[in-house]
Amino acid sequence: MELSIYNTLSKQKEVFKPIKDKEVRMYSCGPTVYYFAHIGNLRSYLFMDCLRRVLKYNGYKIKHVMNITDVGHLVSDADEGEDKMMKAARLEHKDPFAIADFYTEKFMEDMNKLNIDMPEIIARATKHIDCMEKYVKRIIANGYAYETEDTIYFDTSKLDKYGVLSNKDVDEKDTEARIAVDPNKKHPNDFAIWIKAPENHLMKWDTFWGKCYPGWHLECSAMGNKYLGDEFDIHTGGVDHIPVHHENEIAQGKGYCGKNPAHYWIHNEFLQVDGKKMSKSLRNLYTLSDLKERGYEPYVYKMFNFSSLYRKKLNFTFEAMDSAKIALNRLREGYLKHLDGTNDIDDDVIEQYENKFLEAINDDLNMPVAMSVVWDIIKNTAKSKKLANLILKFDEVLGFDLKNYKPEAQVIPSEIQELIDQRKIARQNKDWAKSDELRDIIIKKGYNIKDTKDGMKVTKM
Ligand code: AMP
Ligand code: ZN
Repeated sequence: MELSIYNTLSKQKEVFKPIKDKEVRMYSCGPTVYYFAHIGNLRSYLFMDCLRRVLKYNGYKIKHVMNITDVGHLVSDADEGEDKMMKAARLEHKDPFAIADFYTEKFMEDMNKLNIDMPEIIARATKHIDCMEKYVKRIIANGYAYETEDTIYFDTSKLDKYGVLSNKDVDEKDTEARIAVDPNKKHPNDFAIWIKAPENHLMKWDTFWGKCYPGWHLECSAMGNKYLGDEFDIHTGGVDHIPVHHENEIAQGKGYCGKNPAHYWIHNEFLQVDGKKMSKSLRNLYTLSDLKERGYEPYVYKMFNFSSLYRKKLNFTFEAMDSAKIALNRLREGYLKHLDGTNDIDDDVIEQYENKFLEAINDDLNMPVAMSVVWDIIKNTAKSKKLANLILKFDEVLGFDLKNYKPEAQVIPSEIQELIDQRKIARQNKDWAKSDELRDIIIKKGYNIKDTKDGMKVTKM
């Protein structure tokens, strides 16, 4: 069954055809590590995770790069404002490298809590200044750049067309506003690729143009090219990247080697609160820790995301999170009931479920429909291990780690586990008196014990 995916470049769903058979090379725009990731940001990485899992489910091998932006991202996506890392360093009275380390670690913890299948290569911008320098020098040598006193700009007038993703026309107001930032900038679409660091700038490197730091757009192009080559399959990011960041990445690819770097540009829509984008600047954000404090584990947020298509805006409410919490419990309990089931299920029935699930995920990652197939299995009154195994197979895409799920009542404390182990040894030694004595202790401590042909089963009373 073919995988169809919406390509922002063609503005339609396309059948996915990788450059190399059964191998996918992919790049995702990663976090700017100047603050905790909010759950809006995390929607982007849940989408990336889902895409990876669907590709793997379809049998593709993946080489995937995600950047960590720890320098160069100014407060606006255009060339305005302070570097976000420098601003955070100033406000927190810390070294920007320490800020980057701290929030990178926090970001990785969030990825772990959501069981996100991570890209094979995580590329930190500050560890790739050499490759960025090489990249920018080639753009200059190819004639796609010009210098002002303190900035090297990409010259968009050298391109056949700028704005292939968003098809935008620049209106006059915009033109005036952006040229006002630097009167030496020739055209409002031109953007900074290499910037001279002011005296007090802490993040700077000795380069061919003196002490500089790279432009944010250049980071992604240079690191993508280093690991994935001039042309690769997929590039992902949030929809806010379409009009500036990704247009600029495409422009740079053309300036570097004449090629748009990716065949498929795929974007997730925003998580909103009361109709507005969740963002740091609007102060309407929640983090995973905020959700935990209110009694929602990270997987509840993942389940909530499956209630919508990645390409649709999603409104965050606590009522919807409550429904997602109930759904997650239903999934786990339903899975365990099937696991204890003894019914046999026709292979045809299994195949029908599998086809429906595959059809849904291959239709541009339609997770609401994919989940409806899961609910049909959960509702099936014929409880069966075969259906439990099928749910586990689908969990390769869902990523709820059901295989390792244990209800709290089934988590055995180490003190009880030790008694169980001693009793096992007593039984192996046919020391029935000792075995009975240990059983009584275990029961007194509040656990049921049942000897079955598969061994001892211990559960909390
Ligand atoms: P940043 O760390 O600001 O560069 O953002 C990281 C990722 O989160 C980018 O791919 C953004 O497009 C995405 N993003 C930011 N805000 C939201 C939101 N409210 N909903 C979904 N994605 C978002
Ligand atoms: Zn990027």
